[in-house]
Amino acid sequence: MTIREKDNTFVASTYGRFPVELVEGKGALIKDSDGKEYIDLSSGIAVNTFGIADTEWVNAVTAQLGTLQHTSNLYYTKPCADLAELLCTKTGMKKVFFSNSGAEANECAIKAARKYSFDKYGEGRYYIITLKNSFHGRTITTLSATGQDSFHTIFNPFTEGFLYAEPNFESVKELAEKYPVCAVMFEVVQGEGGVLPLDKSFVSSLAEYAKEKDILLVADEVQTGNGRTGMLYGYMNYGITPDIVTTAKGLGGGLPIGATMLGEKVEKTYTPGSHGSTFGGNPVCAAGALSVLSRIDENLLAEVRRKSEYIIKELSPFVKSITGMGLMLGLETEKDAKTVINECIEKGVLVISAKTKVRLLPPLSITDEQLEKAIKILKEVISK
Ligand SMILES: *Cc1c(COP(=O)(O)O)cnc(C)c1O
Repeated sequence: MTIREKDNTFVASTYGRFPVELVEGKGALIKDSDGKEYIDLSSGIAVNTFGIADTEWVNAVTAQLGTLQHTSNLYYTKPCADLAELLCTKTGMKKVFFSNSGAEANECAIKAARKYSFDKYGEGRYYIITLKNSFHGRTITTLSATGQDSFHTIFNPFTEGFLYAEPNFESVKELAEKYPVCAVMFEVVQGEGGVLPLDKSFVSSLAEYAKEKDILLVADEVQTGNGRTGMLYGYMNYGITPDIVTTAKGLGGGLPIGATMLGEKVEKTYTPGSHGSTFGGNPVCAAGALSVLSRIDENLLAEVRRKSEYIIKELSPFVKSITGMGLMLGLETEKDAKTVINECIEKGVLVISAKTKVRLLPPLSITDEQLEKAIKILKEVISK
């Protein structure tokens, strides 16, 4: 059996894979089983922040791997404590809960929001407003949080207590006045929904209103976090301070980690026994994340913004629209996105889709030369 046949036979059929078997790589370059090389503009969906097999990251991870791979959360370990400290120092948040994925980071945020409200106001004030077209994960509760009807079928019953607003202030306010709401959860740039940034005035009105009503602001930064948008976290582009920030994908640089950052209001919400995770804060994943996070500095962020401007300038004449921020961009092309993606793969560039768009998520460390080459190929594909 070929690997593709074996996978199709034995791996649960939840994914529509491209006909490519990836084997190895370095930075933004990745090779398939035929030895064909691609420039990777997808980063494993915004995960490989510094690309494939980044030397510093590999060293940090392997050093930890050979020292202590796991304990349990019954004991203290240094990488976990160091990572929590770094996340708090860089964001001003107060505490961090570690898990293993974006969905789990959001589950933790949802539980924290409900517990905050329960502790302060008693039962019943449990509604959470999310936005239409959002994506928050694949567990039953985060599917419920996801503001797309197409995700709310088959697996009934879903977790109750979510309300879906249009991405404008009036719509959120209307729901918040009608129901006892404890939180509003949102992505500042809707990733899976089509790389759509929220309006700045909407976000600032929302932040002001939420503060006044003691409604918690939960920023889902699973995709937008960790430098992706040209700021350390996407909300920093909006001048707001969320009460809870969730992240995952790019934080681990390729290892599974989720983080739920808890701000001042909710820093004391969790008490021993009220939440937990066996693998959460795993020393190897934490060491990888420390390596990633410690290198997302002002220099790197300026580079992300510069590369973003370059892509927008180069591709604008060839597309109907470009949306997004930093190195998280969505292209609306004349040609159908699927065709563009397949032709790009054919020509040695990996891009993915987001709804009807072509989505670009290159490693933040992609070199100018690699980026130029990839953009040239993209141009050829979309203009023909
Ligand atoms: C990917 C994603 C998730 C889910 O993350 P998993 O690690 O797949 O559970 C949640 N929210 C957003 C915004 C995402 O992009």
